Amino acid sequence: MTTNETAVRVRELRKQYGQKTAVDGVSFDISPGETFALLGPNGAGKSTTIEILEGYRSRTGGEVSVLGIDPAKGGLGWKARLGIVLQTTGETGLVTVAEQLKHFAGFYPNPRDVDEVIAAVGLEAQAKTRIAKLSGGQQRRVDVALGIIGRPELLFLDEPTTGFDPEARRRFWEVIRGLKAEGTTILLTTHYLDEAAQLADRAGVIAAGRLVDLGGIDEIGGAAARVPLVRWRDAGGVLHEERTHEPGRVVAAVVASSGGEPDGLEVIRPSLEDIYLQLVRSVEGAAEPEEVLA
Ligand code: ADP
Repeated sequence: MTTNETAVRVRELRKQYGQKTAVDGVSFDISPGETFALLGPNGAGKSTTIEILEGYRSRTGGEVSVLGIDPAKGGLGWKARLGIVLQTTGETGLVTVAEQLKHFAGFYPNPRDVDEVIAAVGLEAQAKTRIAKLSGGQQRRVDVALGIIGRPELLFLDEPTTGFDPEARRRFWEVIRGLKAEGTTILLTTHYLDEAAQLADRAGVIAAGRLVDLGGIDEIGGAAARVPLVRWRDAGGVLHEERTHEPGRVVAAVVASSGGEPDGLEVIRPSLEDIYLQLVRSVEGAAEPEEVLA
């Protein structure tokens, strides 16, 4: 693969399960070396899209190219260039971490060193432990280790840190940044928007089978959704809010007119999660409530 080729190219992808349209004309590109997050609520069509890219699922329509190959026709040589970390691998083997990795390394033409991978996912102390005896978070790191042992050019990470404690999540992010620094292209799905904001260069937001936004992780939702909000209470306890591109100027004016810092003064910059929720709600409206509050 040359560096100016796209790693993943998706055009007007469609997938129909009987009457149900799961993916409805989705198009995006992922450049080599990029970390791309595919975001969206449950049932949006993320897994279907990813499974089509991985060659596990057929498509109803559209064009797909992954590392220059149509996944519907990808052979073993192509598969060996991919690393896949599924949502639940259920690695509960009786073999040790090191044994399992050594076994999998044997399937690839140019695998990474087993000890190096164990260190990369922070499992040095558990290398000789049977996988079944590891904690859930440690087993997840084994999944990731198995996903990268073959030195993939493209790594699929499907909700990689679900169930991690905050410390383990941060360690995992370091692993992913290391892979990115080596030039690995990464397609990430996650329900943790802070994770996407930390790791991804670009993102696509999918809702009800359609791509509702696509762009740089700092641009998703558009400039208007990112305008900071200044909030404070006046002497009478009344709440005031002002959206402004110049929060510093507004804060200074509020402080001056209040004769000091008013109660509850804060500048709120919308997080990726705030922006994402706005986007998804505006698309799905109240028509399809996934969860009904009692
Ligand atoms: P996500 O990964 O974003 O949660 P999915 O791709 O799993 O979304 O699902 C998209 C839609 O397709 C959902 O409405 C889901 O119920 C439906 N779907 C997924 N897989 C199948 C299947 N094998 N047969 C029928 N419908 C399916």
